[in-house]
Amino acid sequence: MKNIQMVDLQSQYLKIRTDVNAGIQDVIDTTSFIKGSKVTDFQHDLEKYLNVKHVIPVGNGTDALQIALMALGLKPGDEVITPTFTFIATAEVVALLGLTPVVVDVDFDTFNISLESLKKAITPKTKAIVPVHLFGQNANMEGILALAKEYNLYVVEDACQSIGSEYTFSDGKKVQSGCMGDIGCTSFFPSKNLGCFGDGGAIFTNDDALAAKMRAISNHGMVVRYYHDIVGVNSRLDSIQAAVLVVKLKHLNEYSAQRQTAAAYYGAAFAKNEKLIVPAQTQNSTHVFHQYTLKLVDVDRAELIKYLAEKGIPAMVYYPVPLHLQKAYQDDRYNAGAFPVAEKLSECVFSLPMHTELTDEQLEYITSNVLAFVNK
Ligand SMILES: *Cc1c(COP(=O)(O)O)cnc(C)c1O
Repeated sequence: MKNIQMVDLQSQYLKIRTDVNAGIQDVIDTTSFIKGSKVTDFQHDLEKYLNVKHVIPVGNGTDALQIALMALGLKPGDEVITPTFTFIATAEVVALLGLTPVVVDVDFDTFNISLESLKKAITPKTKAIVPVHLFGQNANMEGILALAKEYNLYVVEDACQSIGSEYTFSDGKKVQSGCMGDIGCTSFFPSKNLGCFGDGGAIFTNDDALAAKMRAISNHGMVVRYYHDIVGVNSRLDSIQAAVLVVKLKHLNEYSAQRQTAAAYYGAAFAKNEKLIVPAQTQNSTHVFHQYTLKLVDVDRAELIKYLAEKGIPAMVYYPVPLHLQKAYQDDRYNAGAFPVAEKLSECVFSLPMHTELTDEQLEYITSNVLAFVNK
């Protein structure tokens, strides 16, 4: 049996090696490393895939979030609401821009922003909500968009973990993750569901004016060369990364299906065990399993991780500390106990290897070892 990894990028690469290498060689042969034709090709392919009007390729997912917030013209003191149980980037950009991050609790079942908690956090200073589609399943966007409409707020989706996941509204309309709010952001970090071979990211929007502004911001605030109308940043997806993504986007649906197959294997093995709570499947959203995250009930997590490591099975904790308890984000408004669900999750979550290359043999080995420990 092949070594088990949290993410097996090498086996995935070997299957598409010829196409990827040819794409990269093309870029080298033409030496158009920045803003080359591969970037425009990828942009158009992704617009078609997502059925969205504008894709703006940028340097990484964090920049995507930052540029999105810059484009909204928010002022210092304006409040931006994010869930406290997420990757740090979501709140980082809010803080960097001098805006006020307001964090809220999440739902125990879905790990995603709690609508109730969100509603309570809205004040006259609130300008935007940044929901995160954590682990690959969309947040309750119907509820979030309704609140945003009622209070006149922008919605910037953090779709860094959820590309390819689809949301169905109650009227039957289906929309891709990241394409429901005013702006959506994603990351092509190598281990993401659609990963390149370095850093990369993209912004999605159906709004022409916002698209033009974000395109300018990502390129030094420049529309006409060397004329700078707004303050921008330098954040571009480079042509080599785009060449990789052109090839990998063609496989994204197959990659999502492979993750779902692995998740179904885990689910079948664990669903009836009282010590393990398997990921909830919501009615409105498909799940593309960026992570396969269990909740442990009366299981010593550190001991379980140690036990699995001895068997050659990696496991991770996403995320061990919620935002409001991070040193850099300490805030008198939020003490320990402020967000009980997120705090509880940070103590009991546990993620198993999840990628496109897991074999039945590996899955059988992983599940039987997890069960052996929890049933001890
Ligand atoms: C990965 C990730 C980001 C940041 O993306 P980078 O490309 O690493 O900058 C932001 N938010 C979430 C939820 C992520 O998982």
